[in-house]
Order: sequence, then C-alpha cells, then structure tokens
Amino acid sequence: MRRLAILGSTGSIGTQTLDVIEKIEGLEIVAMSCGHNFSLFTKQLERYRPAFAASLSTEENPLALSSVKRFFHGEEGIEEMLESSRPDMVIVGVSGAAGLRFSLKAIEICKRLCLANKESIVCGGDLLIEGCKEKSVELIPVDSEHSGLFQLLGEGPRPDRIFITASGGALRDWSVERSIDATPGDVLKHPVWSMGRRITIDSATMVNKGLEVIEAHYLFRYDEEDIETYICRNSYIHAGIVYRDGVVKLHSGTPDMRIPIAYSLTYPFRERVIDRGGITGIPLLLEEIDGDKYPALELARNICGKQSKQIAYNAADEIAVEAFLRGEIKFGRIYNIIERTVSRIDDQRRADYRQILEIDKISREIALEEVSKCF
Ligand code: MG
Repeated sequence: MRRLAILGSTGSIGTQTLDVIEKIEGLEIVAMSCGHNFSLFTKQLERYRPAFAASLSTEENPLALSSVKRFFHGEEGIEEMLESSRPDMVIVGVSGAAGLRFSLKAIEICKRLCLANKESIVCGGDLLIEGCKEKSVELIPVDSEHSGLFQLLGEGPRPDRIFITASGGALRDWSVERSIDATPGDVLKHPVWSMGRRITIDSATMVNKGLEVIEAHYLFRYDEEDIETYICRNSYIHAGIVYRDGVVKLHSGTPDMRIPIAYSLTYPFRERVIDRGGITGIPLLLEEIDGDKYPALELARNICGKQSKQIAYNAADEIAVEAFLRGEIKFGRIYNIIERTVSRIDDQRRADYRQILEIDKISREIALEEVSKCF
C-alpha cells in the first residue's frame, strides 16, 4: 500500500481526489487536512478514517472522531501532521500562496508531490523545483494543462514550442464593456470545468492562464514567448507541443479533473476513473485569445521569470477576488488592482523563502489599499 496525505480535502481538488481513490487500489489515506469546512471534514474523516488529521482553524474539538489518532491545528499543525504520518505521496490541493509552505514541507517527507497548488511554483519559483531535485522527489503536476504537457514531453527531441488552452471562462462571449459590471453570480457559472470559487473567477479574467504560463515556464523550462495560449471552448484540448518540422501533438480528452488527479497518483500507470465516453463528433478547435479582453494574461507574460512580481501578481489577485466576491469591487477592477500592485513591487528575479513571505505580505497590503481606493 502506498501512503497518501491529502491537503485541502474539502476543496474541489480534495473531494475529487477522494472520489478517485475509491476507484484505485493500493492507496491508503494516512492523513487529511481541511481549511474551515469542518462539517464536511467530519463526514470525510468518518468515511476514510485516516490516522492523522488537521484543520487550519483552531476551534474544533475532534475528540469524538475515534479513528483519528492525532489531530492538529493551524498551519504548523498541518506540517506536524505530515511529519507524524510519513506519507509516500502528498497531494497539495489547497488554494493560494499559503500552499507553498505545505509543498516545501511535503518534499522533506514524501517521495512524490502531486501538485495542484500552482501558487507553489508561481510564488516559490525555483525553490520548490530545486528542492524536489535535491531530495529526489517526483513532482507531478495536477493542473490539467501541465499534466498534459508532462505526458507529452517525454523522451526524444525537444519541441520548439508548447501551448496550453483556456476555456475563456464564463464571460467569454460578453463584450469588454459589459463584463466590467459582471456580478459574482455571472462569473461563477463556468462553462466547462467544475472548480473552486477563486479559480473560476481567475478563469474569467485569465489570471489563471497567466499563472499557468508562469507555472509552465518553471516546470518545463520554456521561455514565456515559446509558451502559447489558445482558447478551446469545450476544453477538449488541454495542451500541445509543436516540433521544428511542424508536427503538432495534442493532449486531449474529457475535461474532468479526476483524470489528471488520478494520473498524478498512479503515474507511470493509468487507471480508469470516469466512465468511458465516445470520441466522435467532438470538435477540436483552437482560437486566438483577444488580448484586449484579457489584459491579465499579457501582464503575467511580462513578469514571467521575475519572482517578486509573480508573488505580487498572485497576492493581489487573491485580495481582489475576495473583494469582488464580497461585492466590494467591480469585476473590471480586479485587473487594475493586480496591475497597480505589481507595478509597486521592486523587480527581483529570485527570492528565498523569507523574502517570498515578506513580498507576499507587502503585496497584500498594497492590494488592500488599492481595493479601498475603488470604493
Ligand atoms: Mg489548469
């Protein structure tokens, strides 16, 4: 049995991971952590019975859960949970820059990091990737596009260019003028993928695609200009590679996060975790992205490789999306807040862990100030 820890078990990645695990043999869940959804977490603990568990908040009293040998609280508690449970694999399904801390802890302990938290790479830069190399930890991306690239980029000659696709998000058929005033209700209706709230908003602004270009830059060592982005409206094409001779290889299939989640757990093998669907009559079509409509993608390209600005980009987006979901700012302001925050952070190509935390903190303060200017 391979021992697995799931961080963020009540979120979108976490719940889909649990669904997948019921269909794969040979995996034992030894530890689970949640953020603040304790009522769902309690049900999960009863069903999956890990020996170790943790929650970010500090209020719950988990003593009633008899299967749990030890329960931990807070961010430090999640680290202690990893140390105590000694998993072979850790899936990091938490959202936001906070995930970096857990990813760095996980690679001290496990043999494989199944990484759904793209911020670990956007904010961590080379820190996490070099740490995995040093410790001989396998880093398997869970992000669907990067899972696709990981599967395409095997042996043989290196392709000239790689690309990832975007659905375009819920507002893809709205005019720029109309989308400025879109409400959270409008934006949370994602046309294809079932995902968490922040990433669904990030899909409509294409901040998500911006983060993913940066993620691909670090994971696969391509310059930003050789990482192309296209819209694929049905998300049936996830990624592709283009060789010197013009040959294009696509990674395509049903857009369902359970597939890349399962692949990260079973690599190099494959298991069927969704119903077998037909493959005829599905259009495979790539469209150019309208840069005027998605300025956040262009901004991400401009700062790719500048770690301090990447941290600011992510932090400002986290703050702006929260403000948007609370109804404090208009949808159209999300980009402005990110752009202003990024411009106010000094350019620094590499940062150590202490500097990352510092830049993240300052960026959040600047972003909050920019939010308050919108009132
Ligand atoms: Mg993705």
